[in-house]
Amino acid sequence: MKEGIKVNCGACGRPFDSYAVKLKERKKPDGITEVYYLCPFCRKEYIVCLHSAETKRLQKVITLADRSGQTEKARKLRLLLKKRLDELNNK
Ligand SMILES: [Zn+2]
Repeated sequence: MKEGIKVNCGACGRPFDSYAVKLKERKKPDGITEVYYLCPFCRKEYIVCLHSAETKRLQKVITLADRSGQTEKARKLRLLLKKRLDELNNK
């Protein structure tokens, strides 16, 4: 069985397994997609990260490159994707 990270909900204080919650996505009017999950007990929302139209597109291109065996291309695009996500999420 896959073990996730135990998370203590900041709102209700109950622990839950991060792998037991399903990630959801919501697109905002400004084109930014929020990836989030809800506490299984009290439904408090936690934002995981933000995606832009560009990072969503990069993810698709990386998947395609992986599937067609273009590992070097996929590796370079992954670095670019990480950079863009870091910028977007202020890391
Ligand atoms: Zn909770």
